[in-house]
Amino acid sequence: MSKTLQAIRGMNDLLPEQTPLWRYFEGQVARLLDGYGYRQIRTPIVEFTELFKRSIGEVTDIVEKEMYTFEDRNGDSLTLRPEGTAATVRAMIEHGLTGGGQPQKLWYIGPMFRHERPQKGRYRQFHQIGVELFNFTGPDVDAELIALTWRLWQQLGLAESVTLELNSLGTAQSRARYRDALVAYLSERLDQLDEDSQRRLKSNPLRILDSKNAQTQALLVDAPRLEDYLDEESRAHFAGLQARLQALDIPYTLNPRLVRGLDYYSKTVFEWVTDQLGAQGTVCAGGRYDALVEQMGGKQTPAVGFAMGIERLVLLLETLGKVPDELARQVDVYFCAFGEAAELAALQLSERLRDALPGLRLAVNAGGGSFKSQFKKADKSGAHFALILGDEELAARQVALKPLRDDSEQQTIGWEALPEHLAACLAQVK
Ligand code: ATP
Ligand code: MG
Repeated sequence: MSKTLQAIRGMNDLLPEQTPLWRYFEGQVARLLDGYGYRQIRTPIVEFTELFKRSIGEVTDIVEKEMYTFEDRNGDSLTLRPEGTAATVRAMIEHGLTGGGQPQKLWYIGPMFRHERPQKGRYRQFHQIGVELFNFTGPDVDAELIALTWRLWQQLGLAESVTLELNSLGTAQSRARYRDALVAYLSERLDQLDEDSQRRLKSNPLRILDSKNAQTQALLVDAPRLEDYLDEESRAHFAGLQARLQALDIPYTLNPRLVRGLDYYSKTVFEWVTDQLGAQGTVCAGGRYDALVEQMGGKQTPAVGFAMGIERLVLLLETLGKVPDELARQVDVYFCAFGEAAELAALQLSERLRDALPGLRLAVNAGGGSFKSQFKKADKSGAHFALILGDEELAARQVALKPLRDDSEQQTIGWEALPEHLAACLAQVK
């Protein structure tokens, strides 16, 4: 017997029951981003492996152990994108879109791939919506990014369930001075560090700050503090951001341990976190990366962005019961027809209705069936109204309109008047 075919572990099908919520979420975000004047960019899902090594950093979790890397038929090393920033920056450089200080406000959406241990809120194919702004230096755009995510949480009913954590990593120079101080402090206590942190001490010492190891955390209590090493410029930037968040009444917590997993951040870093999803609590994360474009071979270009995890936000909407009831409705109108001649007339009428009422959500019964079976399907579709066409109605060039969601009376309407009448009925229930 042949093995049953299955999807790859950690890579999920989105079934028809789930897609309405995804499309609702994605639609809300897209509309919001349109409202801020951001434009979408779409890049390939596969890139040269080198791109991610150079941008994300050789010694990050992603590059060290999470990438889907393979050789193609030309012998090139390719990788399924683990995140969206690298390709966006590559495209900006490749097409000269940020040259001469040109401002860009961009967003992307799509699947990302990381070989992690699959669990609730953590998958191997997952989806992100991200934003990247180029050639804006000030804290004003950092504040705008946070303001727009805050607006999104409010629109979705999530504002009470997420908190904003904020930190500044300083400029590359101030961070380098801090790194030296931290390494000096921890090197003297090397034997007390967990194994992971010992390794990171050489490769990526800042990551030790967010170690989950209790003994390491205890050791960090008296360690040098990043904020004491911030230079004047970083300090002013961070103060400017906080002043704007306060002016907008956006609550936040300062988290000096927040360092983010990727190498390329500078100055602002932030995460939106929830306690409703267990260990996978970060739903949106981002920050400034003023050095990245240059590091990738472009001109010095300030940049700031974030990415949100769609799976986690969809899970949060479900967990909190914030899924609009309307999403269960497949169509607004279900057309039942009985007998061959009536079916033909229903087909013609339904196309005329679609002409007259753009955006109409109408299902026409297919495959015949008894009165009872057609009504069952009409009910299951979630439709507000059934249209009914039998021999009697056909002879009179009429159709019956039956409300399915309340006790109001069934009505009979002439074919000519139907589009207008149906539009009025739909306007009442929406
Ligand atoms: P984590 O600490 O949870 O691993 P991360 O710092 O690796 O997150 P980012 O690279 O900043 O995550 O990605 C931004 C967002 O994308 C995360 O906050 C999360 O919502 C989502 N995300 C990241 N990895 C996964 C994954 N494997 N499955 C589902 N969502 C993910
Ligand atoms: Mg991760």
